[in-house]
Amino acid sequence: MPIPYHKRTHRCGEPNASDIGQNVRLAGWVHATRDHGGLAFVDLRDHTGLVQLQFNPDHYADGHKIAQALHNEDVIAVEGKAVSRGDRVNPKLATGEIEVQVDAIEVLSEASPLPFQVNDEFDASEDACLRYRFLHFRRPEVQEVFRLRHRVGRAIREYFNAEGFVEIETPFLTKSTPEGARDYLVPSRVRPGSFYALPQSPQIFKQLCMIGGFDRYAQIVRCFRDEDLRADRQPEFTQLDMEMAFVQRDDVMAAVEGCVKRIFKDGLDLDIKTPLPQMSEREAVERFGIDRPDTRYGMELQDITELVGDVELPMFREAIQARGVVKCMVAKNATSLTRKILDGLNEEVIGIDGPGLPYTKMTDGEGGATFSTGIAKFVKPIQSALCEQVGAEVGDVVFFMPGRTHTEAGKFLHPVRTKLATLLDVIPKDRWDLLWVVDFPLVEWDEDEQRWFSMHHPFTAPLDEDIPKLESDPGSVRAKAYDLVLNGVEMAGGSIRIHRHDIQQQVFKLLGISEEEASAKFQFLLDALRFGAPPHGGIAFGFDRWIMMLTGAESLREVIAYPKTARAVCPMTDAPGPVAEDQLEELGLKLNLPKKD
Ligand code: ASP
Repeated sequence: MPIPYHKRTHRCGEPNASDIGQNVRLAGWVHATRDHGGLAFVDLRDHTGLVQLQFNPDHYADGHKIAQALHNEDVIAVEGKAVSRGDRVNPKLATGEIEVQVDAIEVLSEASPLPFQVNDEFDASEDACLRYRFLHFRRPEVQEVFRLRHRVGRAIREYFNAEGFVEIETPFLTKSTPEGARDYLVPSRVRPGSFYALPQSPQIFKQLCMIGGFDRYAQIVRCFRDEDLRADRQPEFTQLDMEMAFVQRDDVMAAVEGCVKRIFKDGLDLDIKTPLPQMSEREAVERFGIDRPDTRYGMELQDITELVGDVELPMFREAIQARGVVKCMVAKNATSLTRKILDGLNEEVIGIDGPGLPYTKMTDGEGGATFSTGIAKFVKPIQSALCEQVGAEVGDVVFFMPGRTHTEAGKFLHPVRTKLATLLDVIPKDRWDLLWVVDFPLVEWDEDEQRWFSMHHPFTAPLDEDIPKLESDPGSVRAKAYDLVLNGVEMAGGSIRIHRHDIQQQVFKLLGISEEEASAKFQFLLDALRFGAPPHGGIAFGFDRWIMMLTGAESLREVIAYPKTARAVCPMTDAPGPVAEDQLEELGLKLNLPKKD
């Protein structure tokens, strides 16, 4: 019997004791069916929750028959009366005090056998969940992720709107923006042989908005980077992108902090204290081995170069001779870890080709506390001085790492620290450690390519006092850049931009970008810098990553509605796919694929 499903009286999670005796009209999915003592029961579900339907053959014989033949995930509409469940109340359901005695049902659509059950406790394979994403969406915990994502997006928009930011859409079909990844290219049909690049970020466009006088811009925008997806990356991802004119670093940081406060308030109902702490990149690398330190726990790296001058270990000697450093890290109570685990850290974290991970244990020997195992015999002569400096006690394991620089030693010790933190269970739960990392080097030297690369992007301004060193000592020039780090994860990164044409030229030159190349790629920006550019700066947040952190999801795929797999494929649509020969012809393209053997 047709039921006006478009005029539902309630959503499935809504009817309660106050509706007892009332007629209700509901629609949704069959979550589960049961037969009990001649009565048929159906749990009806929509995004608000579950309600129990009761079909009584004495009261509605046809309906009872239909109910007995229902499959999970059939879509139905029903009418009936809300009645008390008496002593069968289900305290787990918001609707648990009532059930609906059905007196009319319409099956709106039938579900075929399902690839996985929506009402299961345990998860189907990720591939199945992505292939049948719409079924996966029907699970309340999956819906909640996207509803939280919606709330956070709305909070961000409201915040920036209230602060006077203008949302301006920037193009997707554009030219390359240098952010350090490979571009996705789109061939032009009307200009065969020419290609658009999908934007890696709206970087130049937002700068032009400032030069155009918009003063403040913010956009939640899709960006595209054709990266190897080993790490948890997605080829298309969402960024909160913003830019402000007539500002210095602190102004951008304060605007971001206001936004972060809102994100935590609206996302998790948490109050975050601002201003957030700041740490220089140098300090972060020296203390934590990385420019995005996880400050929720200790186990900091310590510089013991001066102490180990006479230690007869070749790898220490080499580092000292090369004017490098020797660092160490004390893992408290780590002697409880088995030798297999400790030795395994070397291969698992540092890699088989890595430099090796020397360590020693501090144990209770006959003559008192003593280094034992590992490189004990080499470091015994400096035991007391070392223990005093680094605070090692019985039960601890001391790890060592030499390097030409703090960065190099940190590259190996940082992952060991992270791994040990999990093994030793020292990461406090429910803690949100936010901090700014500032004063990054402007450029870094690439040994392989023998040239300087931007640490951020080529539009980042150097610190004013470092400008004279751009030519003489580029490696020591610091940038007006800032990264926001949360629990050891980079959540946002930005900078004050170069707003002077001559300095932009100088930086292009330093980066080996010739005048012709700069002109071919960024002439419009160079022009704009000549026609009155205000000082400006901004930042971009990885929006997906924020949602991942707030929901505790383990991968970006969980917080993106239709993500790609690690092989950059969409299991649902099967994108990317081949195209027809005539489409290629129209574009003037010919495939030249490597032969498969
Ligand atoms: N364009 C930068 C990025 O996407 C962010 C910025 O500098 O504002 O990482």
